[in-house]
Amino acid sequence: MYWADEIAAAAEGPQVVNDSKTPSGTVHVGSLRGVVLHDAIVRALRERGVETRFLYGVDDLDPMDAAAHLTGDSVERYMGMPLAMVPAPEGSGAASYARHFVGELFMATFAPLGVAPEIYWMSERYADGSVDPYIRVALDRADLVRDIYRRVSHVEKREDWLPISIICEVCGRSGTTLATDWNGHTVAYSCRPDLVDWAKGCGHSGRVIPFKGRAKLKWNVDWAAKWSLFGVTIEGCGKDLATAGGSRERSDAIARDVFDREPPLNVSYEFLNIGGKKMSTSKGLGVSAHDMAALLPPELIRFLFLRSKPRRALDFDPEGDTIPGLFDEFDRIAAATAGLPVRGELPPDPDRIFRASLVDAAADAAVEGARFRPPFRHLALLIQVPGVDVEARLAAEKGSPLDERETEILRERVEICRRWLAAFAPDRYRVEVQSEVPSSVAELDPPQRAYMATLADAADGERPASGDAWQDLIFRTAKAADMASGYAFAAIYAAFLGRANGPRAGWLLASLEHAFVVERLRSAAGGQRT
Ligand SMILES: [Zn+2]
Repeated sequence: MYWADEIAAAAEGPQVVNDSKTPSGTVHVGSLRGVVLHDAIVRALRERGVETRFLYGVDDLDPMDAAAHLTGDSVERYMGMPLAMVPAPEGSGAASYARHFVGELFMATFAPLGVAPEIYWMSERYADGSVDPYIRVALDRADLVRDIYRRVSHVEKREDWLPISIICEVCGRSGTTLATDWNGHTVAYSCRPDLVDWAKGCGHSGRVIPFKGRAKLKWNVDWAAKWSLFGVTIEGCGKDLATAGGSRERSDAIARDVFDREPPLNVSYEFLNIGGKKMSTSKGLGVSAHDMAALLPPELIRFLFLRSKPRRALDFDPEGDTIPGLFDEFDRIAAATAGLPVRGELPPDPDRIFRASLVDAAADAAVEGARFRPPFRHLALLIQVPGVDVEARLAAEKGSPLDERETEILRERVEICRRWLAAFAPDRYRVEVQSEVPSSVAELDPPQRAYMATLADAADGERPASGDAWQDLIFRTAKAADMASGYAFAAIYAAFLGRANGPRAGWLLASLEHAFVVERLRSAAGGQRT
């Protein structure tokens, strides 16, 4: 069964699905895994008729603990302050650092992805007093919280430690304060220069009433308090938090022992590993969620995360084969959903994965799946060949005119191909077909020349019409000549591109006019006939 359906099938009664983000700077594309995963669970629940709320919270009362986008004097000034109180970077009109990076950049990706949670900001929930009852319970039961840290994580807290950070009345920092005494009305605290190494407290000490936004529960307690506050029944988290003795286990124990409530079902998920580490600096392009959402169609981003089970790590290398491979796999699952023949093995429930990947939950997956989608690598080559009418060419390949939606898909892919070629594509995908027979052909061996002559004859007979058909013919011809395929490909690259490597040879030849290909093969072969 599709993994989200398994979760939905086990749910009893109305559900509240929650996900959260700490807004500490630019949000990486991997953070969309949690967003898409929770949305898929929500959809699966609603499709079963389960009454479901979908919440997304921003932990903007957490302290700024990494300089990230701060520079100069502002590092010293703002480190340790709640993210909601740190100003947005210059040039942004947002009300805070948190609102800029999460509210404006990250959350702008949600609606196009078909994700529409109810959004809440923890700075507001603290300020309006919603969290106060949990603050009181956590302070009254601080000994229980300390026990949980010891029992679950073997972390020893000092005897007077309290699970709360007071926002210093003088300097506004919360990351630098140590709270030590709760008398049922006020908390004693001191703002210390040396409490943490990433921020410097001002030295003030005093007592405050810790309610209405003047303090924030420590992260694990805050997490468990949110579950009670919102009645959360399902919340996944990244595997870094879900380790034995780790954050999630502590918060689960706090929910049970301090707030007397069963914690939500956990769906722990693996990371999205980004390849090509130099990428973010080498070409001035990042892998932020908003950059990738601007490059890839939303259904491809959903598909990236939904085609594998949550516990599977994903590799994403925009400068490698990830993007073309993602399009190919999407097209294959689309075709399988429409009942069309596909190559290779299919995952279980491909139609369910495809439907969950569509932005519109109500779309007819079989109709969407049947649409003509130009293979990405083929298109990336076609747009580089001068004089090709891409739309007419693809209509010919489809065998009938493209409908409105297919034309839209094609135009979207052309645009993505262009941007991918300009910014990310490996060099082998960038081609310049030589208008004359390249001089590098002179270095080819006689068997390679003979191979090209044979291929020209075979192509004239079979007239391969697609990249796959060409690829198949190239391999068969090489095999019949008892020639290693790499040796055969090298001849083709030399004849058309004047270099030793290139994209998949079948797709390259399929992107060119048939007559041109045959003529070039014969010229490069030096007129030899077998
Ligand atoms: Zn202070």
